[in-house]
Amino acid sequence: MTVTVGIDLGTTYSCVAVWRHNRVEIIPNEQGNRTTPSCVAFTDSERFIGDAAKNQIAMNPVNTIFDAKRFIGRRFSDDMVQADKSLYPFKITGGLNDKPVILVTYKGEEKKFSAEEISSMVLSKMKETSEAYLGVTVKNAVITVPAYFNDCQRQATKDAGTVAGLKILRMINEPTAAAIAYGLENKAGITDETNALIFDLGGGTFDVALVNIGEGIFEVKATAGDSRLGGEDFDNAMVTHFVGEFKRKHKKDISQNPRALGRLRVACERAKRILSSATQTSVDIDCLYEGEDFSSLITRAKFEEINMDFFKKCMTTVEACLSDANMDKNSVNEVVLVGGSTRIPKIQEMLQEFFNGIELCKSINADEAIAYGAAILGAKLSGDGDEMVRDLQLVDVTSLSLGIQTVGEIVTVLIPRNTPMPTKVEKTFSTTSDNQTCVYQGERAKSKDNCLLGEFELSGIPMAPRCVPRINVCFDIDDNGILSVSAEETASGQSNKIAIINDDGKLSKEEIEKMVKDAERFRAEDQEHRKKVDAYNALERYAYCMKNKIRDSSVVSRMRREDLKKMEAAIEQAILWLDANEDGEVAVLMEKKKALERMDSCSITGDASLGVIS
Ligand code: AMP
Repeated sequence: MTVTVGIDLGTTYSCVAVWRHNRVEIIPNEQGNRTTPSCVAFTDSERFIGDAAKNQIAMNPVNTIFDAKRFIGRRFSDDMVQADKSLYPFKITGGLNDKPVILVTYKGEEKKFSAEEISSMVLSKMKETSEAYLGVTVKNAVITVPAYFNDCQRQATKDAGTVAGLKILRMINEPTAAAIAYGLENKAGITDETNALIFDLGGGTFDVALVNIGEGIFEVKATAGDSRLGGEDFDNAMVTHFVGEFKRKHKKDISQNPRALGRLRVACERAKRILSSATQTSVDIDCLYEGEDFSSLITRAKFEEINMDFFKKCMTTVEACLSDANMDKNSVNEVVLVGGSTRIPKIQEMLQEFFNGIELCKSINADEAIAYGAAILGAKLSGDGDEMVRDLQLVDVTSLSLGIQTVGEIVTVLIPRNTPMPTKVEKTFSTTSDNQTCVYQGERAKSKDNCLLGEFELSGIPMAPRCVPRINVCFDIDDNGILSVSAEETASGQSNKIAIINDDGKLSKEEIEKMVKDAERFRAEDQEHRKKVDAYNALERYAYCMKNKIRDSSVVSRMRREDLKKMEAAIEQAILWLDANEDGEVAVLMEKKKALERMDSCSITGDASLGVIS
């Protein structure tokens, strides 16, 4: 049986869903939680992913990685990476080809990971969660990405899926997935065509999409957003606020102390959530820095004030999306809230006011809608699903314009933003003075202000005067929003394929293969460690259980005195051994347990065993 899951790989939380028994099921993780923190931690002895990683963050801030999605597909020199890096308790440096590299200490050694690798670990956790729940191997997935992700970020996310051992059937824009969830959940309510504005504000990214929904057809009219705006920014703003307050109160600067910053950040995120329902809350942290406790109050009004620039940015993005769709705000029938950060009352208030008091749609689950929509598309692509799923039609658009650099470092746009995907465009160019040109993505006129995707090496072109060669450039954007470029020189009568130098930020095939191998090794190490922990716990439990039993007079009365003494000594020895051998080998641990079991069954007359606990 092949199953296709839908995975929302979120900045702070991820969620996985599947189409089963004619409906979407959100898959809970082993803790029973329906979303899993996108968090990976490394310790002296093991690696944690998800809840286990998040739970130990305050103790191990420098080796607990979160927010990898904010770095994926970006360059280290990117202004945003530079601005963000000091706010994180873990270390980020520049690696080969200007890629951001995350540094951790794992099993006593320094290790370097790319954002793709960290994301692949989160994806493999989601894969394992689905496999445990469904009882089958899961290979196929639809993964969601912010609509505003550029080509590098999409490609890097796809690579992360490959490293996690997944076959990515499709990458779909997050607000589009949410629109599908909304459309199918409200199918009874949608009789005529509906213009739905999807407002998706998560942990680290913000997307707006205007989607026309009618009779199973989902047509995205325009998208807008910011791939670096979300709840993490509101947390950071509160952290900065309290770092200042701590400095004023205690004359001490905690901004260089990762542990204190990490603990403050956890407390701020909690306070932020409380402020969505209460008008004020306190932040109390014992012994935050150099023995000083920290205790302070924050009101909802203060929280809103320190984040007002972000909130206003959200509203201007909504306006931009409407303008791109050539739509008046009065034509919007539904404003659908998606993403945990849409629970912030001020955001709801500003949005409602902008749309002249419209009732905001909160009926779809803000945390699960994206995975839900992805699971529906997964069912459609793999031929599962009911009639409604099979009939579903989707028209999505490119979120950013694509072009090449021409004379004067100006970008000539070949594919404007909001063009329906897939799409293919050809244009003929000629050489000017040099023999290279670059492909850019973005909305600014000057090439330097946009994102460089790749370079053409116009080599192999027959010698000819300037402007004589005719080069046909073809841009092809697939359903995933990923671009491929080909170019041919035709003036010479031959058609010469032109080499395209891939962007050096992208992973090569060899790098991906190496990461796949590393991922397998890490997985094997995790399993080995888990076996050790299980064997250790089993021996410990057994020893303590025996210790308790021989305190029971009815058991003792059935034992010979010398057996009792022997057993007491064996139990004590086992407990001491466990204390001294926290990293004991599985075989040794099992052997020691067996020895205790043998002693247990031989020493008691009548009822032969104390009861085996495994
Ligand atoms: P998502 O990526 O959609 O799971 O959103 C996660 C973000 O939503 C995180 O930054 C959370 O701190 C934030 N969040 C979740 N619940 C609330 C809430 N009640 N109030 C404010 N922010 C929240």
